[in-house]
Formats: sequence, structure tokens, C-alpha cells
Amino acid sequence: MPRIEKLDPHVADLIAAGEVVERPASVVKELVENSIDAGAGIITIEINAGGMNYIRVTDNGCGMAPEDAGTAFLRHATSKLRGAEGLEAIGTLGFRGEALAAIAAVSRIGLLTREAGAREGVNLSLDAGEVIDASPAGCPEGTTIIVRDLFFNTPARLKFMKSDRAESSAVASAVLRCALSHPEVSIRFIRDGKTEYHTPGDSRIDSCIYSLFGREFFSGLLAAASTEESIAAAGYVSSPSAARGNRSYQFFFVNGRPIRSATLQAALEQAFANNLASGRFPSCVLYITTGLGNVDVNVHPAKTEVKFVSDKQVFDSVYYAVLGALERGRAATQEPGPGAEAAADLGSRIQNAKSGPKSSRTQNSEGGFKSMQVGEYRRNFTSPASQSPIFSPDSPFEASLRVIGEAMNTYIIVEYQKSIWFIDKHAAHERIRFDALKTGAYEPMSQSLITPVVCRLGHDGVSILLENSEMLENLGFNVESFGDDAIAVRRIPAEIDIGDAEPALAEICAELGRGGTAEPVRRDNIFKTVACKAAIKAGKSSDMRELETLAARVMSGEISQCPHGRPVAFELKKTTLDKEFKRI
Ligand code: ADP
Ligand code: MG
Repeated sequence: MPRIEKLDPHVADLIAAGEVVERPASVVKELVENSIDAGAGIITIEINAGGMNYIRVTDNGCGMAPEDAGTAFLRHATSKLRGAEGLEAIGTLGFRGEALAAIAAVSRIGLLTREAGAREGVNLSLDAGEVIDASPAGCPEGTTIIVRDLFFNTPARLKFMKSDRAESSAVASAVLRCALSHPEVSIRFIRDGKTEYHTPGDSRIDSCIYSLFGREFFSGLLAAASTEESIAAAGYVSSPSAARGNRSYQFFFVNGRPIRSATLQAALEQAFANNLASGRFPSCVLYITTGLGNVDVNVHPAKTEVKFVSDKQVFDSVYYAVLGALERGRAATQEPGPGAEAAADLGSRIQNAKSGPKSSRTQNSEGGFKSMQVGEYRRNFTSPASQSPIFSPDSPFEASLRVIGEAMNTYIIVEYQKSIWFIDKHAAHERIRFDALKTGAYEPMSQSLITPVVCRLGHDGVSILLENSEMLENLGFNVESFGDDAIAVRRIPAEIDIGDAEPALAEICAELGRGGTAEPVRRDNIFKTVACKAAIKAGKSSDMRELETLAARVMSGEISQCPHGRPVAFELKKTTLDKEFKRI
């Protein structure tokens, strides 16, 4: 049997190094965190060619005394813990006294440091962890560490490195996260001789974001904040119109540390669920603050993932913060869309119409809904105009719109200013219905069915629907049990075709039976079902008045996507036509 032997300390260092130092980005992260721990207010990070050959981090922090400078590179050397009472901090803050030793073991290091108030500083050179030179030096207060030739003595690790470009962008993204988590520190990042980021360090999140991402990104942001029991979430989210094609601008911080978390991502995206086209993603910079006991940071060695004691609480805090931001954003400005100039004026009229008395709903004793026959209802109420008495014929906005007609019984063709617009009439109407259901501006009217529709939805389905009969009643459905595995539907929302009653209820039933969905999301999904079934159908012809009303609402900028995220309108510019016909 082979003898068991203790590892050579050098080999042990290399193994430890592999755990802490994966690539240039992890070196930069550790060095910047040390500078922040040292109380620096200004940190400059410079890399060349991805950081494999050259990384420099300079700070104006507390610096190190000459006798401490060498010690800092020994394993388990830290000034941040004193004995076992600080052990908890190892878990929460990651002070293990390992980073400098690990980095030094796999590179060549130059250290220049002077303690605040000291007459002179020290210049130290290390090669693979061995001090090869130490001499007094005149230098500014603070610390500069230069890391050269990373992994020069571990060829196996070197092989894992990606292109300079990939390493360089990983460094940039690490710096970005450090900067966002410390707006109180001014961070300058120089990549291949060019300053890429420079944050002001004025403790303001907004100026920090502005300096990192620029004016355009910043101007698309909405402020978000919420406080649940023991969790606060605050920061910024993108407005729906500023969504991107990927998630690379989603930044979450938990108790000040950058974190990846499926829960936080889901909360963000579910709050946006009805406002984004598929394949588009919101951006955010969100800070979650909670008691240290509510998070476990030790699930990932680099502590970039966390486990929450209560996923639901964290989910809710982010979900409601984002939802609130979106709602305030909508209230403050109409979403800029086609015809946005006219929207401001129109917006106030829409608001008035929403808050006014719900005149179209007629009360009677039976469940609060007026019952009438289908034909009577259709004659009086099915045109979209009946729900939105906000367009007067004398409106200058409407006058500037010309509905040319509809194509394929599906697309409304509109001339507006210098463009032709195509509007998906079902998608547009569905969105209007959905928004109205959500805001309570629209309560579906019931139509009594002469012959009840019997839906066989199985035992579970029947009990789910009966348990929720009150909610269904509010939506315009009246359901009763009909044997063990079926229900009889006596009334349905007036705009839903009888043939759609069973599919609608089956969808609602499936939604109610599905676990793991946040309540507001579930409610939205049910509204989507009703809105979809109650909307004008593609493929069926509509009268001109309906088309005009829908077109006016879409062109006002009130809506831009259907509840499922598909676009509602498509613009063909006059200039495009002119180009096609070689007029310009
Ligand atoms: P840790 O950060 O866990 O203490 P490190 O290996 O990263 O371990 O650093 C070791 C020690 O070196 C720190 O505890 C600190 O005393 C000192 N140190 C490292 N970087 C700096 C710096 N930029 N300014 C002042 N002191 C530093
Ligand atoms: Mg450290």
C-alpha cells in the first residue's frame, strides 16, 4: 500500500490557489475587495491583454506597514479576524486570509505600499510566492499591487484560459459589479490603455449607474423600492421599452454583494410578464437588504450564489418593487409609442374614463350582473367603442388617423402621419381587455345561456372551479356542480362565444391547479385567458367603427404588446416605400 504523506506546502498552495484564483477576473475581484476593506475612496484598476500578463490595482487605503507587507502573502494571514470569535465573518464576508497567498503562488508580484502617516513605504517583489526583493520606497499613501504572468508556473491552468478578449470582458464585468456594490468608492478601470469606467464615488447609486452605463441606459430606468417584513429591495429596473435581447444587464446585490439567483431573476421577470415581447429581457440594478441570518452565502465557493431562508419573501419583495416601478412608470408617462405626441392629451382622457362611474355595467339582483340574451348584448355592447367612450369625433388626433380597412380579416391598415401601420386586431383588443380587467376598469357582463353548457373537467377540476366560484362570478361565469365530474355553466361573459366557454374554463382550471405560481401572476394568467377569449377574433370581419376605435387606441401609444408579449402594431414608413419605388 502506498505510504500516506503530507503534501509539500508549495503544492498545497497551488491547490488552494486553484480554488481562489480561477482567472484574471477573480484576481481583480480579490484585489479590489482588499482595497475596499482597506478603506480606499479611490481605486484604479488597469489590465492589459485580458490581464494574463499585467494587472495593476492602486488604492488610497490604509496601506501596510513594511513588516506586515510580507506577512500578507502567507496563507491564512489576515488582519480582519482575531481568533475564533470572528469565525462567523469567514462565512459571511469571506475573510480567510487566502487571496493574496493564492495569487502570489501563481504569478509574479510587485507590491508598493505605505501606511497612512508613515515616513516611507516598502517595495516588495515576489516570484511564485517567494519574496525575492524588499526595499524601502518613497510612494503615496495606500497600496499598489501589480500581478504579472498569471499562471506562469501552472501550465495546466494556463490551458484553461480563454482568449484575451474573453478574459478581458470577464474582468470588466467583475469591476462593474464591484463598482455597483460600492457607489461610495470612485473606481476607474483602464483596459489596454483606455479608461473604460470611472465612477464618481459620491455614494449615489444613480450617478454610479449613469457613469457606468451612460445616458441612454440610465434614461430608460425606473426607480424601484419595496419593504417586506424583514427584507428591503431597492434600485432601478428598465422600462419595458428599454428591454434588451439578453440578461447581461441584470444585476442583483444581496447585502452589498453581487449575487446570481434564480429566485431573484424569476421575480424580476414575472413582474414584467405582460409587458415584454418574448425573447426580450428586463435590465435591473437591485439591492436586497436582509438580516444576515436570512441568507446562506456558503453554497458557492466564490459566494456568487446564495440560498435564502425564505425564497417566497425574497421573491415577493423584488416582485412588488418591480411591479410598483412599472406601475408608477406607466402612470407618470404614457409609454412612448406610435403617436406619443397625442398620447399625453389622450392619456388624461383615458384616466378620466377609467375613474369615472362604470356606466356600462347594469346592476340587478342576480349576482350583480344584468342578464340578457346574446343577440341583445351583441347589438348593444360588443363594439370596443362601448367600453371606451373617450374618442369624440372632433378629436384632432383621430382626425389625423385614417383607417384604410382590414386585410385578411386580421390586420387593420392605418395611415398615420408619414407611415402605414398594420395592427393585429385580436392582439390589440386582447391587450385592451387585459389592461382593463387588471385595473378594474372593465367587469365583464354576463350573458345567460338558454341551455347550460356542461363541462366535463374531472373530479379535481370540478372541485377547483367550485371552490373559486366567487372569483368566476366576478369574471362573468356562473358555474354549478353537475354530477361528480362535471359542471353546468349557466352564464358566461357576454363577449365570449358559447363554444369558447369550456376551453376558457379548462384553462382557468389548469391555472388554478398549478402550484408554485405567485398569486398576482396567477390572477394575470386568468385575466389573459378571459381577455383572449373575449377579444375580437382574427379571421372574422369587423365593422369599420370597431377598427377605428381599436386603431385610435393603439396609435395613441396606450399599448404596444399583447398580454403574451407579441407586438400589436407594425410600421411601414413612407421613406421605406419611397425607397422601394426609387423615389428617393
Ligand atoms: P483577507 O482579505 O481575507 O484578509 P487577503 O489574502 O486578501 O486576505 O489579504 C491579506 C491581508 O493583507 C489583509 O487582511 C490585509 O491586512 C492586507 N491587505 C491586502 N490588501 C491590502 C490593501 N490593498 N491595503 C491594505 N492592506 C491590504
Ligand atoms: Mg481579501
